[in-house]
Amino acid sequence: MRLRNVPGSRDVIAESPYTIKDETSKKGKWNEIFGNDNPIYIEIGMGKGQFIMELARTNPDKNFVGIEKYSSVLVRALEKQDEEQLPNIYFIRMEAEYIADVFDKDEVSGIYLNFSDPWPKDRHAKRRLTSVQFLERYEKILQKDGHVIFKTDNRPLFDFSLEQAEEAENWVLLNHTFDLHNSEYVEGNIMTEYETKFVEKGNPICRMEIMQK
Ligand code: SAH
Repeated sequence: MRLRNVPGSRDVIAESPYTIKDETSKKGKWNEIFGNDNPIYIEIGMGKGQFIMELARTNPDKNFVGIEKYSSVLVRALEKQDEEQLPNIYFIRMEAEYIADVFDKDEVSGIYLNFSDPWPKDRHAKRRLTSVQFLERYEKILQKDGHVIFKTDNRPLFDFSLEQAEEAENWVLLNHTFDLHNSEYVEGNIMTEYETKFVEKGNPICRMEIMQK
């Protein structure tokens, strides 16, 4: 992603009531933060937040946490949230590697990964959000029947992700498509920013859904 440095975005994030600051102290306490027992869904690498904010809007009986490592894109979601003040969403600026320090066992009901960074070099494979290393982290936070849903237009990354799901001892592939927008799974699909861009270009979108065995 090409990043524009948005001046002051770190300050905006620090001051927003919708961002969680000392996120590791919230482990096991997320339902207290939301003030209800509704299930919690997260998107890792949410960018400007179009997808997860639409989920929050249309699912008031569920809670959402958007995770993004770059302030300059996260701040765009905060601008929207300032206007809308959705009660069922919070944001964290963090590197997803530490996700298991932020959520407790079974605290998360579902994980969305959309157009994640491909890390094309082999030696960076473990940084991909669908690598077995990340799947092991998800095992520590995701309920047994919770799904990880991944969308991308990057075929090599998608093929890698299918392989990883097979290789990982504790995961099973529930379904997948190499062309979401011409498949049964398109029903109810919420477009992300990247998806809109890639669909306009004519790129087929891949999608897979996995869960723990
Ligand atoms: N999900 C959005 C943005 C896709 S770009 C969409 O589909 O439109 C990928 C985003 O993931 C970028 O904003 C990048 O900063 C973020 N990201 C990538 N790796 C991450 C990580 N390890 N931790 C947190 N955010 C990450």
